Amino acid sequence: MLKYDGHVHTPFCPHGTKDALNRYCEQAIKLGLSGLSFTEHAPLPDGFIDPSPTQDSAMSKEQLYTYIEHVQSIQSQYNKELKIGIGLEVDFIEGFEDQTSALLNEVGPLLTDSILSVHFLNHKNSFYCMDYSPEIFLDIAQAVGSVDAVHHLYYQSVLQSINANLGTYKPNRIGHITLANKFQKRIPPTQSFDKEINDILQAIQTNGYSLDYNVVGIRKPLCKESYPPPEVLKQAIKMEIPLVFGSDAHQAKELAIAWNEYTGVPLDSPLSS
Ligand SMILES: [Zn+2]
Ligand SMILES: [Zn+2]
Repeated sequence: MLKYDGHVHTPFCPHGTKDALNRYCEQAIKLGLSGLSFTEHAPLPDGFIDPSPTQDSAMSKEQLYTYIEHVQSIQSQYNKELKIGIGLEVDFIEGFEDQTSALLNEVGPLLTDSILSVHFLNHKNSFYCMDYSPEIFLDIAQAVGSVDAVHHLYYQSVLQSINANLGTYKPNRIGHITLANKFQKRIPPTQSFDKEINDILQAIQTNGYSLDYNVVGIRKPLCKESYPPPEVLKQAIKMEIPLVFGSDAHQAKELAIAWNEYTGVPLDSPLSS
């Protein structure tokens, strides 16, 4: 069983903790991981205003190169014990593809492992942060017409992200594809989205991308399941889509959290080749 945590945040995340990079590495060694990828939220594209109430969704552009230098330095410090990926969790934001490509073209050569995620939804050129809070989720439902419509819009955006042309340095792993379920225990959809999810898996397979097997949802009281949930994982495995475990840790002690629950799922490492 390959133990690699491919989705880890850092003190550069404005909504995370100040746990230093070496604390994550020490925790990884303690847990017997072969490695981890630091995937901090990439700076939001030029001209995009963070719609979240606290405006703390991502690291600022000014910090980007300091972040990369820190990860490079920790990578050489731990090179005997751990494989460390230098990455970003890049937002796909409909309408900002050019700005996102520009950022990726600039920084891409320094990165070794990144994730492409959707957190922001575009509805009639207003943007919403879908995973911020149940209250905001309900606001979005009101704006787009229904809870089901939010899910629909989310899956549509994820599919768009997979098919988008973001240049040579486009991340090849797709983040938490069922994040729309984050508040499902309080705000359940009324229909299944199997068809949309199936289309997403097909597109991931066609493009040769991998899937972020993101477990943070399991410990969210309003979600209680991984992104994606087990039945979708099974299908992804059947389709031979590589799964990369992601704790989405925002503090060192969340690294590879509850690993034992995931035995039996064949996992990949983005740096194994
Ligand atoms: Zn975060
Ligand atoms: Zn994310």
